[in-house]
Amino acid sequence: QLSDRLLAVTKLVTPGNRVADVGCDHAYTSIFLVEQGISPYVIAMDVNQGPIDRARENIIRYGQKAYIDVRKSNGLEKLEPGEADTVLIAGMGGRLTLQILSDYPKVTASIRELVLQPQSEIHLVRRTLQDMGFLIVKENMLKEDGKYYVMMRAVPKVLIEDECPYVLTEDEHYYYGRQLLEQRNSVLVEYLEWEKELSENIVSTLSKETTENADQRKQEIKDKLDLIKKGLGYYR
Ligand code: SAM
Repeated sequence: QLSDRLLAVTKLVTPGNRVADVGCDHAYTSIFLVEQGISPYVIAMDVNQGPIDRARENIIRYGQKAYIDVRKSNGLEKLEPGEADTVLIAGMGGRLTLQILSDYPKVTASIRELVLQPQSEIHLVRRTLQDMGFLIVKENMLKEDGKYYVMMRAVPKVLIEDECPYVLTEDEHYYYGRQLLEQRNSVLVEYLEWEKELSENIVSTLSKETTENADQRKQEIKDKLDLIKKGLGYYR
């Protein structure tokens, strides 16, 4: 019953890891992780009572009360350092995702793996993760119901032997993902082509206007087009 998006998210979890599913909502992700034998123990957390009630009902219905602990928690508030190996945050905005990771630094520092699927501002997420000492070691991208989704696994830099393949240095790494670009991800190229066409159309519409505002907007879109072309350059 899991969407393709959540299925792809669960595939990034290292088998055997104890997972904190932050913003678990219905807890379908938590249930799937245990059912599939990916995770022996999940802490399903949500800040709102509605989702917590739904999560409890579903967990009982699927007979998994012994393996999934439900906690009403604002972000990582109710997670102790060392209780989980993986923190999974899916379906939330990029800024909220980052806020959750920075609110309880001792907990975040104890984590061995982050599995994130931010809905927005993914470039900011990539940049901030690196600033926080995490490196993105795996990424995936898919399109579901006409929307593009990016999901990633990040691990603390100190746990990686050779950092070189994962360090982000170029603007296009932050915007489109170094792993996705270097692996010539087929969904990313479709996204880049789509963005290119969209941006070119906007530039041509704005070219008919002569206001200062239009000029400024046109420059912004042109900068974005440069970035898109850099991204597309990986596919040549
Ligand atoms: N993770 C699921 C998914 O990807 O389909 C659910 C995503 S749903 C859009 C976001 C969930 O996060 C909601 O259930 C909401 O109550 C919860 N949430 C929002 N802010 C939160 C916070 N600060 N801490 C924990 N949960 C939060």
